[in-house]
Amino acid sequence: MDKARVAVIGSGPGGLFAADELSRANTVSIEVDLLDRLPTPYGLVRYGVAPDHPRIKSVIRGFESVLENPAVRFLGHVEYGSDIDLDWLRRHYDAVVFATGAANARKMDISGEELDGSIAATQLVAWYSGHPDNSFEPRLSGSAVAVIGAGNVALDVTRILTKSVDELVTTDMPDEVLALLRGSNVRQVHIVCRRGPVHTRFTTKELRELRDLVEVDVVIDPADLDRVDETDLPRAAVANLKVFREMADAEHRAGRKKVHLHFWHKPVAISGETHVTGLHIERTAVDADGAVVGTGEREHLPLQLVIRSVGYRSDPLPELPFEPRRGVVPNRDGRVLSDDGEVLPFIYVAGWLKRGPSGVIGTNRMCSEQTVEQILDDLAAAESRTSADSAAVDQSLRERAVHVIDYEGWQRIDATEIERGSQSGRDRVKITDWPSLRATGLGVSP
Ligand code: NAP
Repeated sequence: MDKARVAVIGSGPGGLFAADELSRANTVSIEVDLLDRLPTPYGLVRYGVAPDHPRIKSVIRGFESVLENPAVRFLGHVEYGSDIDLDWLRRHYDAVVFATGAANARKMDISGEELDGSIAATQLVAWYSGHPDNSFEPRLSGSAVAVIGAGNVALDVTRILTKSVDELVTTDMPDEVLALLRGSNVRQVHIVCRRGPVHTRFTTKELRELRDLVEVDVVIDPADLDRVDETDLPRAAVANLKVFREMADAEHRAGRKKVHLHFWHKPVAISGETHVTGLHIERTAVDADGAVVGTGEREHLPLQLVIRSVGYRSDPLPELPFEPRRGVVPNRDGRVLSDDGEVLPFIYVAGWLKRGPSGVIGTNRMCSEQTVEQILDDLAAAESRTSADSAAVDQSLRERAVHVIDYEGWQRIDATEIERGSQSGRDRVKITDWPSLRATGLGVSP
C-alpha cells in the first residue's frame, strides 16, 4: 500500500516524540507533517524550561535530528482552528495526532485572585522565556512575593526571582527581562505548600539548586520536619527530606534574600483594594479521608505579588471532545473518544493534552510511543490510503493565504538568534516579537 501521511499538531516534546516514532515505524511507511501555530518548534522546551537549565534544553539536539529526517516536515505558523480545521486535516491526512500541550494556568478560586499583582506562573515563564504572545511584565518593586504550589515550576520562578542576575546574563533571556530583574527589589519569597515536606512535587535535583543559591537562605520551620513519620517513605521523599534538613540547618546570614517554605499552609484570600497588599494563609492538616483541610489557624503575609504555580491546564480544541474536570481530551491509550465513548477514527492525542500536565520531558516519549502503537495498528488495518500528497497540502495552504514557516525558515530564525547571542558572548538571544519572527522565518524584510 502507498505511504501513509500523518499530521501531528504541536511540535513540543509530545508531538516530536510522536513524529520520531511514526517516521521510524517499520510496519507501515509513514510521512509526517509536524504543524505548529508558532514559527518555532520545541514548545515548552523553548518556552517553558527555565533559561538557566541549559542541560534540560539540550534535549533539543535530539529533536533536531527528528526535524532533519526527510520523512518529517515542519510546517510552522499554521494554526489549527483558524488556518485549518478538522475537516481539512481529514481530507489531507490518513491520521491526525493532537499534541498541543497545556499552555494555560489553573486557578486557585480564592478571593483577590483578580487583583493587580496576582499572576500565574505561566505569565512569568512566558515573560522570561521571550514568548512572542507575551505582553506582560511583572512589577518587581515590592520586597515580598508569594509563590503558591510545591512543584518544579514554583522552584523555577523562585530561582529566577532570587538568583544573582550575573548568573543569568549568559542565558537566552531577553535583555529587557534581565534589566527588570537587575532592578528588582524582591528580597523575600514565600513558597506556600498545602501539604507537608514529604508530599511536595519538587524533584530533589531542583531542590538542591535552591539550597545552593549563593545569595539566598531557605527558611523552614524545623518543627515541620521533626513531625515527619519516616516509615515507608518513597525514596524521592527521603532524598527531599534530607535537602530540607540541610536547608533548615544551614547558617543564615544577614543581607541575603530569604525563601520561606511554608509547609502545611494553603492560601485563603489575597488582600488589597486594587493591588495585592498581602496573602492570608491557613494552617492545614489531613483529615480522616486523606483530604487537606484548613485548621482555622490563620496568618497574614504582607507582600506585593502573588504567583500561583498550581499546575498547567489544557484548553479545549475546536471540534474535539474535552473532559473539563481532568483538562484532557478523552482517549483510550491515545485514540480519541467521542462524548459517547466511541473511538473517533484516525484521530489521536499525545503528551499533556492526552494525560494532563505531569512528568518530565522524557515521560512524553513513552506517552507518544503508546499513541503511535495505536496509529500503526489502525493504519495497518486500513483498506486504503486517503491522504493527499505533500504538494497538495502546500497548495491548499497557499490558497488559504497561510504563510508557512518551514524547517528552513526556522533555521533562519535559529541562525539569527545564535548570531545575536554571539555579539554578547551568549549562546542565543531570542527574537521575541511576532513581526520579526515572521519576517526572519519567511526571509523577508520586517
Ligand atoms: P505540579 O508538579 O503538578 O505541582 C503543582 C503544585 O500545586 C502541587 O504542589 C499541588 O499540590 C499544588 N496545588 C494545586 N492546586 C493548589 C491549590 N488550589 N492551592 C495550593 N496548592 C495547589 O505542577 P508544576 O509545578 O506546574 O509542574 C508541571 C510538570 O512539569 C511537573 O511534572 C513538573 O515536574 C514538570 N517540570 C519539571 C521541571 C524540571 O524537571 N526541572 C521544571 C518545571 C516543570 P498537591 O500536590 O497537594 O496537589
